[in-house]
Amino acid sequence: EPVRARKPDWLRVRAPTSVGFAETRALMRRLKLNTVCEEAACPNIGECWSQKHATVMILGETCTRACAFCNVKTGMPGPVDLLEPMHVAEAAGALGLEHIVITSVDRDDLPDGGAGQFVKVINELRKHAPNTTIEILTPDFRNKAKRAVEMIVDAGPDVYNHNLETVPRLYPTIRPGARYYHSLRLLDQVKALSSQVFTKSGLMVGLGETPLELHQVFDDMRSAGVDFLTCGQYLQPTPRHAKVIEFVPPATFAAYAAVARSKGFLQVAASPLTRSSYHAGKDFAEMKAK
Ligand code: SF4
Ligand code: SF4
Repeated sequence: EPVRARKPDWLRVRAPTSVGFAETRALMRRLKLNTVCEEAACPNIGECWSQKHATVMILGETCTRACAFCNVKTGMPGPVDLLEPMHVAEAAGALGLEHIVITSVDRDDLPDGGAGQFVKVINELRKHAPNTTIEILTPDFRNKAKRAVEMIVDAGPDVYNHNLETVPRLYPTIRPGARYYHSLRLLDQVKALSSQVFTKSGLMVGLGETPLELHQVFDDMRSAGVDFLTCGQYLQPTPRHAKVIEFVPPATFAAYAAVARSKGFLQVAASPLTRSSYHAGKDFAEMKAK
């Protein structure tokens, strides 16, 4: 596949071989937990897992949507695993996590969109891993968003993340099941419900967006009160997925980061390998220390 063969040097990473990697994988298997790290074929898995940082994906490994950038399989998901909240808390304890990122597939099939499971996970973590800060990365919950967001914000996560993923012009091809302004309003709603929770959102670049379009999204995010921004290179997980239009050079990421900082985000992470959850714990701890 020519696009993948041309991957530039700055995107090359070492194969995951460390002891920490093997231990994290064994633990996740034992507790029957799915991770985005594996499902999304994330290039940082060697680094993150060797440092025992992982993003747990709750509510199964089958999604009711089919975004053009995402490697998670689409279909009718199975029943909700009632032991999952306990298992997530156990994993956080066993890995000694300072910070955990919890996300899920979209569960448009569930009456609450899966919000109840997020709440249970947060509650279990607070009970059994009280020193772990909690970042949740949620779907858009479609027409169930208002209630779902209320439930989750009520449970009191430290960071509420919802990714806009791309510029509005590219939604019909890249995020066809979602609506840009719905996602933006969701972020706005989180802030309106609680000034205690930090909000966060992320973008993939290299899909054909222009710098001006990105700057507009930064502005939109800031008007919705978004605190943290992540921005990374989109990589095509398989030839069936959306093509990479451009490998954005590191210097361009630095320029995007400078523009974003000037707009007042508390934290900006922008580099080719930045992912929504990359260095999330370290960045959050640094931000709190400021
Ligand atoms: Fe997992 Fe996020 Fe690290 Fe990727 S960047 S390996 S998804 S924790
Ligand atoms: Fe992937 Fe999320 Fe889209 Fe589902 S909704 S296909 S998990 S990006």
